[in-house]
Amino acid sequence: MSLLIRGFQAGKETMMADQIIVEDLQIYAHHGVYLQENEKGQNFYVSVVLDTDTRAAGMADDLGLSTNYGVVCRFLHTFLTEHTYKLIETAAERASEALLLQFPNVRQVTMELKKPEAPITVPFGSVSVKITRGWRRVYIACGSNIGDRKAHLSAAVDALLGDKKCRVLRVSDWVETTPYGGVEQADYLNGAMSIETLYTPEELLEVLQGIERTEARERKERWGPRTLDLDILLYEGRVADTDKLTIPHRDMQNRDFVLKPLSQIAPYERHPVLGKSVMELLADVERNGEKHVLLN
Ligand code: ATP
Ligand code: CA
Ligand code: CA
Repeated sequence: MSLLIRGFQAGKETMMADQIIVEDLQIYAHHGVYLQENEKGQNFYVSVVLDTDTRAAGMADDLGLSTNYGVVCRFLHTFLTEHTYKLIETAAERASEALLLQFPNVRQVTMELKKPEAPITVPFGSVSVKITRGWRRVYIACGSNIGDRKAHLSAAVDALLGDKKCRVLRVSDWVETTPYGGVEQADYLNGAMSIETLYTPEELLEVLQGIERTEARERKERWGPRTLDLDILLYEGRVADTDKLTIPHRDMQNRDFVLKPLSQIAPYERHPVLGKSVMELLADVERNGEKHVLLN
């Protein structure tokens, strides 16, 4: 049995295409690089497109089931008048994050912040920044083979449960596995979890490495023994390859100890490069690959 923490199934939100739209909400505020802007203030205009699900509210004609746009407008007004930033980039960034944290049914926000009275020495219509931010679905692999392995893995779940920019959705069972990569060492306990996060992939990697450090992980050799290892497997269908980060995880398709627990929480999730579901990848590796999962 896997643990379902927030009471909804993976995939539900990805179906929604409804939007609530607010245009040119006028807010007198004090954002700007120049002192006179901070002291005197000027008019800003905010537009937001909120990606959400209005079906239940629409069918029942019940505001309680929707995101109240009046409340959203007041929230933005309060936020952007109570804070002062030099850049409209920062104002938009912080206001978008605050909005996503405050209104749990909003999956993504596109915000345009206009500053038509900006101090520019040539005539212009308006200047603005426009950003899109939202909750991204991520799958994480967890492993431990030193000390109280279960406690290290539970600590990782607890750390993400305590991070307001992450929502833990599902956690798999922990499975007993033999080591991978040829280094002589003790058996592992492995698992997988699904989360939604406001972090970018790079930010999330830093957060996960911080949790590993808290659990006294020493980074000695690749594939060597460790108290806790947290790898990003999939990030909202994205594909990326930099010095620090490869998404999807470059070796997940070869690891039964990753795919077995992942298939418990996300059997139909698709690998964006290989085009196969987690279930299919597991079947492939069970047929042709190394066997690391020990049957309990
Ligand atoms: P493997 O990545 O093959 O499972 P490992 O987990 O033992 O090996 P680590 O020593 O934990 O390897 O990490 C080495 C580096 O891998 C990290 O510093 C990180 O920058 C990089 N890395 C690249 N892609 C990812 C990813 N998807 N998730 C986590 N780390 C990644
Ligand atoms: Ca790893
Ligand atoms: Ca790792």
